[in-house]
Amino acid sequence: CGIVGYVGGEQATPILLEGLHRLEYRGYDSAGLAVTDGDTLHVTKAAVRVAELRDRVGEGHAATTGIAHTRWATHGEPTDTNAHPHTDAGRRVAVVHNGMIENAGELRTELLAAGVALASDTDTEVLAHLIAGQLEGGAPSLEEAVRRVLTRVDGAYGIAVVDVTRPRELVVAKDGSPIVLGIGDGEMFVASDLAALVRHTQRVIYLDDGELATISAGDYRTSTLGANRTAKTATTVDLTE
Ligand code: GLU
Repeated sequence: CGIVGYVGGEQATPILLEGLHRLEYRGYDSAGLAVTDGDTLHVTKAAVRVAELRDRVGEGHAATTGIAHTRWATHGEPTDTNAHPHTDAGRRVAVVHNGMIENAGELRTELLAAGVALASDTDTEVLAHLIAGQLEGGAPSLEEAVRRVLTRVDGAYGIAVVDVTRPRELVVAKDGSPIVLGIGDGEMFVASDLAALVRHTQRVIYLDDGELATISAGDYRTSTLGANRTAKTATTVDLTE
């Protein structure tokens, strides 16, 4: 339902929680976030309101990169386990996802046959395992790992992904579900909805369907699922509160 992401010089947790709060008006049944300092992926998620998630997170972990989600369940009940972010078994990769993956059943069966233990009932979780699998299998970048997985996915998605071994970047992608990049001063934001960016920047870039972006504190790079670079123009939006 709602996605927020941050990479920059500030503590990610309060920015992510504030962004989730701004997306609450859309409705949701669960909320969660994952931040990383490059050592560990710290995940907090539950079938609770954002205010309760904030209490559970407390001061949070020192980390300047992270992703967060408010979920509106399509596959699997609203439970703590089914809340996003989802991770692979080794907790290398965390994924948040809006939309639904039509061939999730098939991908789940394939993962189970390969001996992967699935923790949740969601369609989303397969993405975390498959992306981690691509990284372990030698994909040269997180973006390329995500690209390889998305070419196998049918359905609608907006996603944000973090890899604990690359704590200075996020990869986002979309097809049929919105993702907007917010350009800050030495920091970058991502969101599924302009409302989450309102406090931070007016300079935004709308990803197109079939497009991915790698974002870091001071930069972004966009490309297609076919690995062709795309040129984007930032738009200035009036996000009066
Ligand atoms: N299909 C995903 C799930 O049920 C994401 C739903 C959403 O857009 O929040 O977990």
